[in-house]
Amino acid sequence: MTNRPALPPEIARRRTFAIISHPDAGKTTLTEKFLLFGGAIQMAGQVRAKGEARRTRSDFMKLEQDRGISVSASAMSFEYAGYRYNLVDTPGHSDFSEDTYRTLTAVDAAIMVIDGAKGVESQTRKLFEVCRLRDLPILTFCNKMDRESRDTFEIIDEIQENLAIDVAPASWPIGMGRDFLGCYDLLHDRLELMDRADRNKVAESIKIAGLDDPKLAEHVPADLLAKLREEIEMACELLPAFDRQSFLEGHMTPIWFGSAINSFGVKELMDGIGEYGPEPEVFRSLEREVAPEEKKVTGFVFKVQANMDPKHRDRVAFVRLVSGHFERGMKLLHVRSGKPMAVSNPVLFLAADRELAEEAWGGDIIGIPNHGQLRIGDALTEGEKLRFTGIPSFAPELLQSVRATDPMKGKHLEKALMQFAEEGAAKVFKPAIGSGFIVGVVGALQFDVLASRIEIEYGIPVRFEPSQFTSARWVLGPKDKVEKLVNANKQHISTDHDGDVVFLTRLQWDIDRVERDYEGVTLSATKEMM
Ligand code: GDP
Repeated sequence: MTNRPALPPEIARRRTFAIISHPDAGKTTLTEKFLLFGGAIQMAGQVRAKGEARRTRSDFMKLEQDRGISVSASAMSFEYAGYRYNLVDTPGHSDFSEDTYRTLTAVDAAIMVIDGAKGVESQTRKLFEVCRLRDLPILTFCNKMDRESRDTFEIIDEIQENLAIDVAPASWPIGMGRDFLGCYDLLHDRLELMDRADRNKVAESIKIAGLDDPKLAEHVPADLLAKLREEIEMACELLPAFDRQSFLEGHMTPIWFGSAINSFGVKELMDGIGEYGPEPEVFRSLEREVAPEEKKVTGFVFKVQANMDPKHRDRVAFVRLVSGHFERGMKLLHVRSGKPMAVSNPVLFLAADRELAEEAWGGDIIGIPNHGQLRIGDALTEGEKLRFTGIPSFAPELLQSVRATDPMKGKHLEKALMQFAEEGAAKVFKPAIGSGFIVGVVGALQFDVLASRIEIEYGIPVRFEPSQFTSARWVLGPKDKVEKLVNANKQHISTDHDGDVVFLTRLQWDIDRVERDYEGVTLSATKEMM
């Protein structure tokens, strides 16, 4: 299904998406089943219970630890039924982070996983709001139907009310908990029956000629069948029918019911993304809109990860290709520095192993190993000076000062901090007066994550301590005015890892004062990364 005939077939078959959910709803299990059906892993088993610490970096890493599969990447590609799926991992920790936000700038759709017994939970709502900022199409998977769940109408109502989005049932559950039998596929008039004996088996699918087909009675006990007919009749009256356009515009979400752990409903969900899911989208740059079918390669960095694999080079920049057909060895323009860059060893996150990318298309995610030249927000093109927009950096809401427990390690600490800043894991500010650094994050848990990463990856034990500041604002304005401000307010001034001037304070009053006293200067809570 396509309404964009200009797209080359290779691009039209790409589906690039992320999964959003509240912890424990089943994101890891679903990811695992995707990979199983995509042939990326041989045999899925139950993901073992995991401690809080394991949540800190990535669900893919969690998978790796739990299953011993080599998937420590932030993106994963697999083939299924003629489609190429690119699944981009959203960081697993429960604090909202910029990383998550930026991941969602690199995908064309999101799957929202909810627990059938719990409905819409806090983290789901937050992530949903982020998707809404971009009108991302969202597919909903209501998981754990093999357990006691809420009433189907109640779940749908809650999503509609809580998230202000139309919900169209793509499937309807038959029974629940111990009596859960499977689903009626409303989009294809099929009966899908869950196999409880084999958790890795794809459900048995029986073609039905509508709800009056006598064949239904052969598979569904009379009481459940009567209930199913009644509920679907009601659903048809009360709920909107699936409308692809409305879905693509982010106004409607189709919902599938299933049980990830039993591999049930997963295939239907994958088919749904394939059949209805958006093809690679048009992206905005400051200069113009860029369409995926354009011949020339363009892309932007949405994530940088350091120390991914000690065997490989130190950093990998994750690039969302926006347009064109990329081939290994291509020389691209690194727009920020104006320098050409030969991309000779890009990584494609295919199947269970990282492999060298020979080619990639608009919509794909490739990893480019580099020594720090590539930063979040950077554009790569075949020569055009494009700057992709909408990849913001947020002012951190929590600030702490940091120092190495061993004062001899100060220099090393600086290097580690700069690396994390470039990775986008934290903001690092160097105050104009005094020594040391101030680190800013969006969620409190990130301080713990950073402390443990600095210790593990750089061997430097550190201490975070309360800082006298609570707000950071980027100083924007004419050079002479900014300079005047800097000279008169040294105790508030610092620079970020790009060398941009940042005003630190504890009082909103200070921010108002500066904006009043220095006409033309603004103190901004966000900075576009480009
Ligand atoms: P995540 O935190 O969202 O990644 O959730 P996980 O995939 O780790 O799942 C959380 C827990 O729910 C694990 O113990 C899973 O085994 C379990 N789980 C996942 N899917 C299902 C399901 O369909 N049914 C049941 N009963 N449990 C499930």
